[in-house]
Amino acid sequence: NTLTAIAELVFIVVIMHADLSVRRMMDIEMRKAIANGHFMLHYQPQIDEAGNVVGAEALIRWRHAKMGEIPPVKFIPLAEETGLIVPIGNWIMRAACAQLAQWDARPETRRLSMAVNISASQFRQPDFVQNMYDIVRVSGVNPSKLKLELTESMFVDDVGATVAKMSALKNMGLAWSLDDFGTGYSSLSVLNSFPLSQIKIDKSFVQGMLNNAANMAVTEAIIELAEKLNLQVVAEGVETVEQLNRLRQAGCRIYQGYLFSPPLGIDAFHEFLSSEASR
Ligand code: C2E
Ligand code: CA
Ligand code: CA
Ligand code: CA
Repeated sequence: NTLTAIAELVFIVVIMHADLSVRRMMDIEMRKAIANGHFMLHYQPQIDEAGNVVGAEALIRWRHAKMGEIPPVKFIPLAEETGLIVPIGNWIMRAACAQLAQWDARPETRRLSMAVNISASQFRQPDFVQNMYDIVRVSGVNPSKLKLELTESMFVDDVGATVAKMSALKNMGLAWSLDDFGTGYSSLSVLNSFPLSQIKIDKSFVQGMLNNAANMAVTEAIIELAEKLNLQVVAEGVETVEQLNRLRQAGCRIYQGYLFSPPLGIDAFHEFLSSEASR
């Protein structure tokens, strides 16, 4: 018994070490990716009721020379822990603003807005507001075309400090969007405690809606509440026409999901825009 216990302990220590070295390796690889430009942004169209593209959400992609494409869920959480999310997050914002500036320069794309994901630990940095402010200023983009997506995990922090940071950037013209709405544990009061302009209904609700009456009721209630609070609602993860129709009936006017398009590289995104224009 003692022997088994010792064997188990040794096993756990070995696993922990293996895990540590994988993490250390990933950290080194991420630093190289920043230096060598192996990160890129993909853009997922956001569509309005009339079927027009109104904007895009920027989603990071990592093209690793040997490991192939590494999805964000595999490295963003680690980057948050190690602090690498700060240089990566600044790169994302610069790249998104550079793209937005190009869209702004052409009449056909001038209407497009850009949504950028901000991770909790990035937001918590004391110089977050200054960093974002400087990047937007240097890029020359119209801040009112920018939406920053946050998750409810940020709302457990000091409310006053969080509101102050959000307000500082909102005063510059940027809008805040609450991502993955409905998946966190915060109360509905977050919706009027923070200077939000938009909420995104999490894809688990959108996808559960049709075969789960409770899910449908929650989704409808969210949309109704958002309307009363003057918040724009975006449904994410829309995959079927049935989902789209129910969302439309419930009063949701902006949609994102595979039904329209997956996130696309910039050339494919522009192709999507022009095919849409010719329809
Ligand atoms: P998210 O912000 O909730 O992004 C939406 C995710 O849903 C994206 O996955 C997108 O490709 C996927 N998606 C879009 N439409 C559909 C659909 O119809 N069905 C399904 N099943 N999925 C759909 P992705 O790009 O792998 O990103 C995953 C998560 O990684 C994001 O969730 C976000 O939390 C994080 N992430 C991605 N890019 C960034 C970034 O630039 N910065 C930060 N901080 N986090 C990012
Ligand atoms: Ca998002
Ligand atoms: Ca989301
Ligand atoms: Ca998510």
